[in-house]
Amino acid sequence: MGNSTSSGEACDVAVVGAGIVGAAVAARLAQRGLKVAVLEAQQVAGGATGRSAGIVTTGLPGYYTRAVQTFGREAARTLWALTVEGRELLAEAARSLGVVWERTGSLLLALTPEEAESLRMSAEMLREDGFAPHWEKRDPLGKGFLGALRWADDGVVDAAALTCALLASTPVTVHSGTEALGLETNADGIRIWAYRRTLRCSAVVLATNGYAPLLGKSLSRWTTPGYAWKGVTESASGSLPTPCLVDYGYVSLRPLSDGRLMVSAWRPPGAFSHDPDEALRRRLARILRRYFPEAARRFPERRSGIVGCTPDGIPVVGSLSQLPGVYFALGLGGCGLNLAFVVAERLVNLLLDGTSPGILGENRQGK
Ligand SMILES: Cc1cc2nc3c(=O)[nH]c(=O)nc-3n(C[C@H](O)[C@H](O)[C@H](O)COP(=O)(O)OP(=O)(O)OC[C@H]3O[C@@H](n4cnc5c(N)ncnc54)[C@H](O)[C@@H]3O)c2cc1C
Repeated sequence: MGNSTSSGEACDVAVVGAGIVGAAVAARLAQRGLKVAVLEAQQVAGGATGRSAGIVTTGLPGYYTRAVQTFGREAARTLWALTVEGRELLAEAARSLGVVWERTGSLLLALTPEEAESLRMSAEMLREDGFAPHWEKRDPLGKGFLGALRWADDGVVDAAALTCALLASTPVTVHSGTEALGLETNADGIRIWAYRRTLRCSAVVLATNGYAPLLGKSLSRWTTPGYAWKGVTESASGSLPTPCLVDYGYVSLRPLSDGRLMVSAWRPPGAFSHDPDEALRRRLARILRRYFPEAARRFPERRSGIVGCTPDGIPVVGSLSQLPGVYFALGLGGCGLNLAFVVAERLVNLLLDGTSPGILGENRQGK
């Protein structure tokens, strides 16, 4: 694969996007002996990964009951198992690269009787299916929540540091500030037109999150941009024992070691018809005022970002039929760190061995 030519730099695989998915894919491919180049429009982890709150949870937003309803019991079980596998792969990568990973556990807190019932039933079904969440009927925080589901093994990570460390740990060439602008396939392979650079390669991986349709129009059926917001309180804001997720997992609070709280919230596309920033922050403010008044103050540090969301809320791994050799790994949404390493592994297996991505593939079939 990959000879140098006068018409551009050559590599075996070009990965577009240096978020956690692109970095994990690039590192795995390089470990398998391929010459890999990464193109990143901003800087490494400049997208959602570097803005994330770093909470790595078990499961998907909306809880197990909803997943069982949507996908069926077996598929829901598979998905939850993948998030456990992904969390452990991430924890192992962080540990081996010397990046902060803390096994804090997490609490999912119910705001309404419906949410409490959904959490209670989720806990029951999850235990039947071999998982070990703990349902607490009484609010462990004493703040008026209507119950809580506890996962002991969840944790927090510095996702930006992990992404940088992954890329630094393998012989991958990273081109920051280099937006990929177009792709062309011909008999010799694939040519990527990028800002101030042209690359020739045998395969391309799009790990561009919500921006994927800009390079592959057909990907608009797989990913649309959702919106996420994060803020850190000005000063110490009481003490939360562990990261907490509220409102079906769409709002999270993470205690920092200096006593400040990192608060974040997200919604999939279309959840708010007008200004998503304003609507999201208003909803968040209502929850904070009622349950975490100590955190409902100023947020001097704020970030927001685009998160790529699929129609069914599960990431997708596949290849473009109209552009042979172009692959994609997308749709981690607003809490997808738990699946990043599984997505990367399935992408690499598809690209190198033709192995089906199973339930993360385009037809959502299998394990
Ligand atoms: C505010 C916020 C808080 C969050 N909190 C959490 C959390 O606590 N827990 C959790 O699990 N998840 C959280 N998330 C979601 C999580 O960060 C994402 O699911 C995950 O990081 C997505 O990784 P990615 O590699 O797919 O995408 P990204 O990290 O967005 O990487 C894609 C990269 O592609 C680059 N790119 C795009 N187009 C091009 C192009 N044409 N050429 C070159 N480069 C290009 C972008 O610049 C970007 O760096 C949060 C997200 C945000 C925004």
